[in-house]
Amino acid sequence: MKDTELFEMALGLIPPWKVESSEFNPETKRLDIMIDFSRGGTFSCPECEKENLKAYDTELKTWRHLNFFQHEAYLTARVPRVKCNKCGIRLVDVPWARASSGFTLLFEAMIMTLAKAMPVKTLASFVNEHDTRLWRIIHHYVDKGRSVADFSTVQEVGFDETSSQRGHDYVSVFVDLAGPRILFATEGKDSATVGRFKKDLLEHGGCGENIKQMCCDMSPAFIKGAREQFPDTQLTFDKFHIMKIVNDAVDEVRRQEQKDRPELFRSRYIWLKNPENLKKSQAQNLENLTVKKLNLKTSRAYHIRLNFQELFKQPPLLAEAFLKKWYFWATHSRLEPIKEAAYTIKRHWNGVLQWFKSHINNGILEGINSLIQAAKARARGYRTKKNLIAMIYMIGGKLNFDLPT
Ligand SMILES: [Zn+2]
Repeated sequence: MKDTELFEMALGLIPPWKVESSEFNPETKRLDIMIDFSRGGTFSCPECEKENLKAYDTELKTWRHLNFFQHEAYLTARVPRVKCNKCGIRLVDVPWARASSGFTLLFEAMIMTLAKAMPVKTLASFVNEHDTRLWRIIHHYVDKGRSVADFSTVQEVGFDETSSQRGHDYVSVFVDLAGPRILFATEGKDSATVGRFKKDLLEHGGCGENIKQMCCDMSPAFIKGAREQFPDTQLTFDKFHIMKIVNDAVDEVRRQEQKDRPELFRSRYIWLKNPENLKKSQAQNLENLTVKKLNLKTSRAYHIRLNFQELFKQPPLLAEAFLKKWYFWATHSRLEPIKEAAYTIKRHWNGVLQWFKSHINNGILEGINSLIQAAKARARGYRTKKNLIAMIYMIGGKLNFDLPT
């Protein structure tokens, strides 16, 4: 078997395409494979697919292919232009690359696989290409995958913001909670993000009336956006965010009280964790600090927090009565931060109780967010938010990139 035949098999070439020659340069560590087509070979028009067209003339093109061990491999071919009655003179499609890409499909498939697992910058130096060229590949496949994504069955949507660079900029992420999959990601955390999501949902066969339930935090911008864009949708406030409001209030009580009560020093975490998650020494410390005669405000706040947590264990029919009782207790606690937390919950009453009907939360978004943060940490310097958003779709969009394997 000749080496040209070997390369033909490796590349999966079918007539009229064939490998003409190959040249290996040990100094530049480069392998060049020259591809050509047989005399008299015919091609189809790339526009209308009309067959049996002869080459009108040719253009010489080169594509980066998968490395051959540590050597960069390139394919070079004379690509014919055909003269189609209907479409005019057109460059034909070659089976190993998509139109106007400088890479073969297999090279692009490798990039798409590795970009999920390693920083694009590292990947770029690994394959000796500029990272903007790799980002171009990623954007192409993400856009292609998103163009055929179908949102017609989406009924429950959770959304939340994630910080992009160093916490200054934000990207809001919308998730199909049943998927779960990322539907949409967009810059900002204002109410307009929900409008952009609605537009994108409609463009993907979804429909506002289909969305029965939405879940978000208590951010006024998100609430406003949801009410405007999805007036018939029931809003559930994410219970982890609700719990955080009460938790933060306990922490604030402790912070204020600590100024006069040195025994509270370095006790922060024992009040924030649940008792069953404490280490033995922490549990002992908690026991010492919660004895009645110490009469610590922090201890009272802590018990109000523990009681609030019980809300989510109530049977649906008793939930509102339970929350009312808790509210009375919290607002009569004479602990300002706890009272503030209770007022916040009062203002969001229906969306807090909606959980007993919808049973949805944004836990899945927390998981996705940690993936995003990990990807960011790995890929310092996304250059642009557009790149970050493409990466978010790659991680969680469950898109079909339709790549060769
Ligand atoms: Zn044509």
